[in-house]
Amino acid sequence: MTPVRLPSVDRLLRSPAIAPLQQRYGREAMLRTLRDLLDELREPAQKGALAAIELSEAVLAGRVGERLAAQHASRIRRVFNLTGTVLHTNLGRALLPEEAIEAVSLAARYPLNLEFDLATGKRGDRDDLITGLIRELTGAEAVTVVNNNAAAVLLTLNSLGARKEGVISRGELIEIGGAFRIPDIMSRAGVKLVEVGTTNRTHARDYEAVINPRTGLLMRVHTSNYSVQGFTASVPTAQLAGIAHANNLPLLEDLGSGTLVDLTRWGLPKEPTVQEALRDGADIVTFSGDKLLGGPQAGLILGSRELINKIKKNPLKRALRVDKLTLAALEAVLNLYRDPDRLAERLTSLRLLSRPQGQIMAQAQRIAPLVAQQFGQDWQVSVQAALGMIGSGAQPVARLPSAAICIRPMQSKRLRGRALRSLEENLRCLPIPVLGRIDDDALWLDLRQLDDEAAFTAQLHLLAED
Ligand SMILES: *Cc1c(COP(=O)(O)O)cnc(C)c1O
Repeated sequence: MTPVRLPSVDRLLRSPAIAPLQQRYGREAMLRTLRDLLDELREPAQKGALAAIELSEAVLAGRVGERLAAQHASRIRRVFNLTGTVLHTNLGRALLPEEAIEAVSLAARYPLNLEFDLATGKRGDRDDLITGLIRELTGAEAVTVVNNNAAAVLLTLNSLGARKEGVISRGELIEIGGAFRIPDIMSRAGVKLVEVGTTNRTHARDYEAVINPRTGLLMRVHTSNYSVQGFTASVPTAQLAGIAHANNLPLLEDLGSGTLVDLTRWGLPKEPTVQEALRDGADIVTFSGDKLLGGPQAGLILGSRELINKIKKNPLKRALRVDKLTLAALEAVLNLYRDPDRLAERLTSLRLLSRPQGQIMAQAQRIAPLVAQQFGQDWQVSVQAALGMIGSGAQPVARLPSAAICIRPMQSKRLRGRALRSLEENLRCLPIPVLGRIDDDALWLDLRQLDDEAAFTAQLHLLAED
């Protein structure tokens, strides 16, 4: 083939095909993308490897447009979480209720009294915005909120135990995903870790034996993401609080998930509540905002006014504090807890967690035929009972009875693995990616969290094999 000449940038800029791109993405981005493309085409054009049509204004504009669209697409994508794990850390944990979404958009749009006391006209404190609600709901005297529960634990340990010893059972030296390990956090907080007891059994006398003048606090960590079963013993909060207080020490309890209501009311497994920990004598209780509470990412620190004041004076608090959007969402979520009777209707995460299996099954039966239509005879699509999980480390052994659409490759055994992986990829590459789970040589779509059925079925045709 003969060499073809690249059109000049100037000529392209005057082209009616290019003008709309400049309008939409701005001159700078458009020009950069156009120049990049022309640079890539220069050599093949000189070698004669391109047809003239490939350098036409229309084709070049089309390619520049595609690149600009890809560059400008949001990296944050909505997905369908059909994994069966409701509070999925990698997928953003709790979904906010409508009330919280409205509060966030209000806080984003307008100035607000974040640290301004409207009654006195003086400077206020952002924690005060939720203190009244926390008091009413939990009986705690005071509260302070930070970025997440990991930050809450770090800040509390550093504020109350720096340069002192922190006593904790060997059975509670947990690691949460993402390198959050209690021993590491203690050492970063400047607290000297003193382990007592054994992995499976720790007794009151173990704590008592190590308390000395250098002891700064006792700590209890809810072993939220694993369970020790069999020959076990741990010291209940009430007894541990007794030991702490007899020695003039604070007891810090990290509840992890932390909930404000008894979840057994909705058929969910029993999880210790914040109120119980406080009633049993924990001086400081910490928990996440976006796990069972069903709110935004945050770490709540509750307890006595004296200790909370100490925590708030720590300069680290300033580094770990939450923003106005989080506080707005948190206040709205806490507000819903005032009416426990309607909580499961209004709090999105609780509604999803407590959806009855029969309802999910009926939904699966409704949708399965639409899914089956997209697959040929190499696949078997069926409705199956399934077991989901709460997620975020809450109740790791508990299972939520659910229903799933099960898509099973029927090809020869040799081809099945690849067929399954390519199905998984096709679902993941849909306009709204669908994330299921692969188990037992099949792909399972657990429908517990499928709220937007219309959006799900609307893109199914893109899976059709041709
Ligand atoms: C989840 C968890 C944390 C960390 O909470 P984040 O909100 O993820 O920072 C700390 N402790 C326990 C026991 C947990 O379960």
